Amino acid sequence: MSDASGPVPATADRRLVLATRNPGKVGELREILADVLETAGLDLVGLEAFPDLEDVVESGVTFAQNALLKARYAAAATGLPALADDSGLAVDVLHGAPGIFSARWSGPLGEATGRSRDEANNDLLLAQLGDVPDEHRDAGFVCAAALVLPDGREVVREGSCRGVLGREPRGDNGFGYDPLLVRPDGRTLAEHTAEEKHAISHRGEAFRALAVDLEALLS
Ligand code: IMP
Repeated sequence: MSDASGPVPATADRRLVLATRNPGKVGELREILADVLETAGLDLVGLEAFPDLEDVVESGVTFAQNALLKARYAAAATGLPALADDSGLAVDVLHGAPGIFSARWSGPLGEATGRSRDEANNDLLLAQLGDVPDEHRDAGFVCAAALVLPDGREVVREGSCRGVLGREPRGDNGFGYDPLLVRPDGRTLAEHTAEEKHAISHRGEAFRALAVDLEALLS
């Protein structure tokens, strides 16, 4: 990094760190960011390239705060520009819950029954909303995507993917709450192909917006 406001010199290390240990997410983001990675000559790498980095405690109370915590740590620890995201499901009638607690909504008790964490989360949410009529079942996935440069510059962009919560899981694709969120075309997100989901997903929207910042800052 030459100075606090200028572009990165062409001779610099061209790696961009994605603060995740999930190789599936690195692959997904390589697809979503393909154009800007090529234009800017950047190589997206996950945290497996940096085995000494610690896990960041997600102590924020918003998606944006948690995404920034992860990206700031990765940028400071590697000296490279870093991306991170934080996402979850926000149910209107629950005032945005499960929100930042989406991954662990059913807690240890759900998994103790032998179901996967996703199944336990989905079962609990469906039970909680059992008496809620169809017209009040609006919900959406939310994603905050953060870019942090080693010189301290930061950008956060958000995306969402709205729908209505069904009454039983449907579909085999995707993960998490995908089988519950029914889109306007009547299909759940788990009934979308990966390509279809990327085109409309909260993560796709957030990172496509961040790609514009990336190009401006790192080309
Ligand atoms: P993360 O921040 O991407 O790790 O997501 C946290 C949690 O939110 C996941 O464990 C899922 O329960 C939920 N979630 C986030 N994105 C999605 C999605 O695209 N589909 C389904 N569930 C999601």
